[in-house]
Amino acid sequence: MSTPNLQTFQDQVADLLLRHRSLLDVLSKCGQSDSSVNRAVTKAITECGCLEVHAKRQPYQPEMDLDQAKHSLESHLQGHLCENCKDVIRAELGKHLFYMSALCNLLDIRLDEVVKQESSKCSTLGVFNLS
Ligand SMILES: [Zn+2]
Repeated sequence: MSTPNLQTFQDQVADLLLRHRSLLDVLSKCGQSDSSVNRAVTKAITECGCLEVHAKRQPYQPEMDLDQAKHSLESHLQGHLCENCKDVIRAELGKHLFYMSALCNLLDIRLDEVVKQESSKCSTLGVFNLS
């Protein structure tokens, strides 16, 4: 099965969403599914252990050039997600995307336009879009 485009996905969500039709339900589900993504990532660290976080202050200096910054700034992650954690996180991200799409439907916003707009912002702002 090929990957559906965002508009197809958004239409699917519109057809499926019977239970959470109210904007308030969708907003709270959106927040809840966002937390579930964070929770799944946290569990990969604290319960599975396939990921570790070793965090410290970023060694950023204003005089650094782009290459130096790319090499010095860290993700603070060590290890890689195991297949199981990756599956769980993918599923939670999917659920979150579902409720984001539902929110877009209620507000008459096209998800593909959101992505398009953000993508052109990224190419205009380039690396300064990090914050
Ligand atoms: Zn894991």
